[in-house]
Amino acid sequence: MTSFVDAYFQRTAPHALKRSYPMVAGLHLNEMPRDIPAELKARILLRLRQVPLNRYPEPFADSLAAKLAGWYGCNHNQILVGPGSSSFIRLLLTFFGLHMQGKLVITRPSFAYYEQFCLAFGIDYDTWELTNDFQYDPGGLNGLPDYSVVFLTTPNNPTGNVLAVPQLERLLNEHARSLFLVDEAYVEFTSQNTLPLVETHDNLILLRTFSKAFGAAGLRCGALIGQAATIEAVGGLQTPWQLSPYTIEAAKMIVDYARSTNWIAERVQEVVTEREKLFERCCNLATTHFAIYPSHGNFLLFQGSSAEAHLALLAACADHHIRVEDLNKKPRLARCIRVTIGRPEENELFEHAFAAAFTQVARKPATK
Ligand code: PMP
Repeated sequence: MTSFVDAYFQRTAPHALKRSYPMVAGLHLNEMPRDIPAELKARILLRLRQVPLNRYPEPFADSLAAKLAGWYGCNHNQILVGPGSSSFIRLLLTFFGLHMQGKLVITRPSFAYYEQFCLAFGIDYDTWELTNDFQYDPGGLNGLPDYSVVFLTTPNNPTGNVLAVPQLERLLNEHARSLFLVDEAYVEFTSQNTLPLVETHDNLILLRTFSKAFGAAGLRCGALIGQAATIEAVGGLQTPWQLSPYTIEAAKMIVDYARSTNWIAERVQEVVTEREKLFERCCNLATTHFAIYPSHGNFLLFQGSSAEAHLALLAACADHHIRVEDLNKKPRLARCIRVTIGRPEENELFEHAFAAAFTQVARKPATK
């Protein structure tokens, strides 16, 4: 007899709940390697003591939206905030999935949550496949019907590629009656600026987050940016009181601190320098057995050229107590492993693991 869980969950939600386990280096979640500055944290903790918990917070955290507007350089009515950018991904996939007029398109390979969510909730989608070397293929959207909604990520996770701003602009013009939702979780690691396109295009929505360059994944805070009419419409779908008053106050103080110091740029630069160093060192070690993809995010993607190479790298990471993200079972990502850039000593540890895996594979002839 089919159990309740089988009937409702197993067949439709193929991804099991992942719980955490102890490790030396957690390089699997694309977090920043350092907490927010200690001085800022101390100030936040003092402020939080004054926050009344018997009261509901602001329903849509308008004071935080206004602060973020100052940081991004747009109007406060062009921003919605919510508990992580994933809350907006969920909201918009649900809305457009239920009210589909054209197609709902997600890029592949990309952030796994998009596809997992559609599968779990029975949302029909088409994929926009990246090229074999994991670049956006502008021709891939030819023939897209009007009133379609395209979700794309730039820099893309886990492939690290970007969609250049002029290419995005061309797509927005060519498909002026379709909506483009551009997930910019890692945008601070590039010099790309898509915000001016929001002024000129009512079919563009951007997603930003505190979880990456801001080093505040634990805060659970993200933002959606678009033209005022779009924000009003999407805001009507959002449940009020999504952000706790602690999150609202802390996020505002983080933005103030970022505006008055060079903290974010310095932290980003540290990660980018470490990423390039690790990329170069691993490429120098291994031109065979592994492909390493150039990245514009805070991570690198490694692809074993054989099952042995993939398994050897996973085993070496486990031996060194490093947790990495194994993507082998995801579509288009056979033998792929994503590694977040950590602190210098963590990256060095990974480099040792990589060297050990390479040495092991190099001893045997590769089989596919
Ligand atoms: N988009 C992308 C591309 C991501 O990689 C992630 C997290 N890894 C998110 C969104 C979710 O971010 P948040 O913490 O803001 O929900």
